[in-house]
Amino acid sequence: MPQVDASKCTLCGNCRKVCEFHAIAVLPKEVMVFKELCHGCGACSMLCPEDAITEVDHLMGEVIMAEGGVLKLMYGRLKVGEAAATPLIRQVKATIPEGPITIMDCPPGTACTAVESIKGADACVLVTEPTPFGLHDLKLALEVTRKLKVPAAVFVNKHGLPGPDIQQFCDAHKIPVVGKLPIDRSIAEAYSRGALIAEDARFNTTFKKLRDWALSEAGR
Ligand code: SF4
Ligand code: SF4
Repeated sequence: MPQVDASKCTLCGNCRKVCEFHAIAVLPKEVMVFKELCHGCGACSMLCPEDAITEVDHLMGEVIMAEGGVLKLMYGRLKVGEAAATPLIRQVKATIPEGPITIMDCPPGTACTAVESIKGADACVLVTEPTPFGLHDLKLALEVTRKLKVPAAVFVNKHGLPGPDIQQFCDAHKIPVVGKLPIDRSIAEAYSRGALIAEDARFNTTFKKLRDWALSEAGR
């Protein structure tokens, strides 16, 4: 988090202008930083002409790791009252141990948290559903992966709903569709029992195709 050295600050207002998150206010006699709004992007300290801003640690949550067999699960838990999850996601990513494969489950949409999660990935699977809302979000998410230069493929959930034709959209934009999971009550029932749908023999091929695409994009 930025910390302003009042003895160096000339109240020029640069930090306020560059902060996309309105986390800095420049008052007639001081600069105020609203830590709850800050995303820790570093722009203000980088662009302060007086070198008056330093970055200090701020405890905003914790990184948790659990192990089960050969799998490790890591996640971040925000402290109650903290609003910006991006720095915590960055910290979770920085703590990931070296291993053969890392799968990151991203937040939906295209907010900073999703962008931070996708950044640096070898490949990204965009899970969507054939609804107007799903297609709208897919278009935005695709734009993000293209800007971040991360190869993307689409996985259609609830395939069979009478909505927009996701396959047609993907064909027109040259994005591979690596799987379709039908809208089927038994899937929801298995999910609510805690069963893994990937272990259902009906969908073996679907999930293998998804895995093979991701591994080949990652050069494995
Ligand atoms: S950019 Fe630096 S000098 Fe200018 S108001 Fe912000 S802290 Fe002060
Ligand atoms: S680190 Fe980024 S988000 Fe935080 S106050 Fe500075 S410019 Fe704003």
